[in-house]
Amino acid sequence: MDHAATTYTLPEVLEAMLPYFSEHFGNPSSLYSIAEVSRRAVEEARGKVAAAIGAEPEEIYFTAGGTESDNWAIKGTAFARRKSGNHIITSAIEHHAVLHACEYLEKQGFSVTYLPVDGDGRVNPADVEEAITDKTILISVMHANNEIGTIQPIAEIGRIARSHRIPFHTDAVQTIGAIGIDVDAMNIDMLSLSAHKFYGPKGVGALYIRKGVRVDSLLHGGGQEKRRRAGTENVPGIVGLGAAIEIATADIDAYAGRLAAMRDRLCRGILETIPHTRLNGHPTERLPGNLNISLEFVEGESILLLLNAHGIAGSTGSACSMGSLEPSHVLRAIGLPHEIAHGSLRLTLGHVNTEEDVNYVLEVLPKVIERLRSISPLSAGESKTGQRD
Ligand SMILES: *Cc1c(COP(=O)(O)O)cnc(C)c1O
Repeated sequence: MDHAATTYTLPEVLEAMLPYFSEHFGNPSSLYSIAEVSRRAVEEARGKVAAAIGAEPEEIYFTAGGTESDNWAIKGTAFARRKSGNHIITSAIEHHAVLHACEYLEKQGFSVTYLPVDGDGRVNPADVEEAITDKTILISVMHANNEIGTIQPIAEIGRIARSHRIPFHTDAVQTIGAIGIDVDAMNIDMLSLSAHKFYGPKGVGALYIRKGVRVDSLLHGGGQEKRRRAGTENVPGIVGLGAAIEIATADIDAYAGRLAAMRDRLCRGILETIPHTRLNGHPTERLPGNLNISLEFVEGESILLLLNAHGIAGSTGSACSMGSLEPSHVLRAIGLPHEIAHGSLRLTLGHVNTEEDVNYVLEVLPKVIERLRSISPLSAGESKTGQRD
């Protein structure tokens, strides 16, 4: 139950990739027949990615994953537009690939506004409008958050960006295959995606760049990707990305509906059987497979270790890193008090999960929490919030 971290590669995706490691190994830039096969495969995948998000094939650029796409969109735009201004608007709950790229730019003389979010993790579009100055050169707000699953009002933020003629980037790494995307209807100028989050291979992704949007290159070298992203194409990975995105976006509603129903049953079961718990993230505007719960008086990593001993893979936003119990920037941004943020548990459902899995977690988790609380120094005394649930 950690599909937000990564997914396995579907057998049919792997099948599609395999010939491009061996039989069809040509370099797409070469001028002979075996290279032509690789070239055609890359262009076919480009068409599939474009079709999945309502873009044109010429607007899709292959990268090494979500991190590169985010870095390219942010730094590439900043460097291309530095003569027009030095101000960037983003949110406090972005993935580190966006946040750390922005922090790097601050060291280079750019100024960044990190918009706050409300208690459910939503950015208020009015805050975006208010943050815009005549120096603003980029707005970047993620489509859905990887920790708490909250979906942002992207179309509205995009509309505001467009009305000020400011390019709008969104990190949609978590939403491909979970929510339908149309870059025109949602007013998106740049969009990051990554294959391993939707049952494709790791190390390959794409950046959508709307025609006419200026972005400097980060990688200089050969003339690949219309001279905008140098380096011999990861042909098997790109073929896998194309196959995976076609499958992931084919029947989103049925898949999302199935996941959301299991997720809701899991959520109700946990909140009803375990005292001192709360749901993090938006109650309805959230990723179908995402559940993020805070459990008071326990520590996230301890929950994970015991769940792992029962064969359950989850994740926490409250890693006890370097001896300090600092909860994640996302849990802090939604205003969770420290003692509640300590024990967060993220379970993200996907393809392989069944109703039996949900039953199993509902059987194991209450026992795990009871055991941890019985030995926890945190549970001595009353809840600081004074609430019993
Ligand atoms: C996983 C993830 C990334 C990073 O993608 P990689 O392909 O792993 O580099 C970026 N943003 C979000 C929201 C993610 O979930």
